[in-house]
Amino acid sequence: MRVSRETSSVSKAAPSSKTTLSKPPSRAELQTAIRSSSITRPTMMPERKPLPSNSSVPKIPATTTSKSSVVAQPRTTVQTNQPTSVSTGPPLILPDLRSQVPQKVRQITATKVYEQFLRIYEPLKDGKSLAGRDAAMQERKIHEDSVNQAGYKQIAAGVLGRLKKRTPAQNDADVGIDGEWVDGATRNMKNSIRKDLQQYIVTEEQLAEMNYPLPDALNVPQLHDSPIGSVQNCDRCKAQFTVKDILKKQDMEACRYHYGRLRKIKIHGEFERLYFCCNSPPESKGCTTGPHVYKAENVEDLAKRIPFVRADATHAEDKTPKEIIVFDCEMAYTTAGMELVRISAIDEHNEIIMDELVLPEHMIIDLNSRYSGIHTLQGAKYNLNDIQKMLSKYVDENTILAGHGLCNQTNDPTQMKVVHNKIVDTVSLYPHPNGLPYRYGLRFLANKYLRRFIQDSSEGHDSFEDAKTSFDLIKLKVEKGAHFGTH
Ligand SMILES: [Zn+2]
Ligand SMILES: [Zn+2]
Repeated sequence: MRVSRETSSVSKAAPSSKTTLSKPPSRAELQTAIRSSSITRPTMMPERKPLPSNSSVPKIPATTTSKSSVVAQPRTTVQTNQPTSVSTGPPLILPDLRSQVPQKVRQITATKVYEQFLRIYEPLKDGKSLAGRDAAMQERKIHEDSVNQAGYKQIAAGVLGRLKKRTPAQNDADVGIDGEWVDGATRNMKNSIRKDLQQYIVTEEQLAEMNYPLPDALNVPQLHDSPIGSVQNCDRCKAQFTVKDILKKQDMEACRYHYGRLRKIKIHGEFERLYFCCNSPPESKGCTTGPHVYKAENVEDLAKRIPFVRADATHAEDKTPKEIIVFDCEMAYTTAGMELVRISAIDEHNEIIMDELVLPEHMIIDLNSRYSGIHTLQGAKYNLNDIQKMLSKYVDENTILAGHGLCNQTNDPTQMKVVHNKIVDTVSLYPHPNGLPYRYGLRFLANKYLRRFIQDSSEGHDSFEDAKTSFDLIKLKVEKGAHFGTH
């Protein structure tokens, strides 16, 4: 462990630690301090691990995320009251027997997160110590939010991806860990987004035309028989197949399909239709194999299997309605069709109000990883019902639900099985010149209007990134006016 006696930046960031700096230590004392203390630098002290009984470390509430306590924590830890800590360098992760995540994995994350904060805070006077502080907080939050190693890695990857997109801080207020930091455009936005958006709320006729769930979806009688054994048309290869609960090896390879869409390409001056995935012609054999899968063809069929609820159903006392909630969902194929497996939602301040994996009600056939970006549901804590309840705490009759993806049954309120009549959709804000059902993808719109490249990883979509991109497109429309983006 590296120990230095630079203390100036420590006291700047953590004035409380001054009390421990009464007399300069001798070399021998320092050595003792190093041996007797497990912490010498800004450090992640896993709160689940009990502190040594003779430690002078102040007890920190397990749930704390307050900045000051995190800063103070590693700097007052030496039992001999010797100054041993420095504020630079990545946070040091200690072994924690109770953690499901190996120390090494956590340390790698902490270091990568630190590197990003170092870059983001570079223009600031206290950039280095702020980077150490926020990297420690960020890693701890990732650890707190995850229940196992797979979940940890997934959350960490999301956080890192977002940190990488952050531009260097403009001023001292432009700081904060992922999930708490608010970008400048949002900070400056007047609190009138709801008023500004009234003219863009999708009308009731449009909702019907776009196959959005309407109030009558609430009254569809439920099917109680199992979908297992039913005959369905495959969503990929269009063949008929029988839904099974246990898939054998041959079932896992029963479907040959192209995962990409057909697109027109000009070859030697002539247009040809080729699959995007492998550049094969329409009549070609599929380039990919997998199980047959299906999805409900309309809202009514969906409602028969999993009931819809009102988005604002909860009237709890702790209800805190938002002006707008922008969300994005990822779906997977189950024995009952398609079901929600991840939801990300942000509010009018760009703050994450939800970013969760969701356990489907029925057995999974295919996680659709290529598109969902989800490879495991390990660590998922909630089912659809829990998510609906959580969401409805934030929704009253005036809350606008927004996102990208009108038309057909894959729009987000349909995926969440909620009915709501204040919808803003980037598909209708930036319509395709040919009209529906043609529409631009989020990736195209982000590229064209925000000059941002999203969904470019082979890992599939990141629903948080998609939600944020949708919101940026909505804000841009509000800023530029009704004619913007309508060709
Ligand atoms: Zn193909
Ligand atoms: Zn198939």
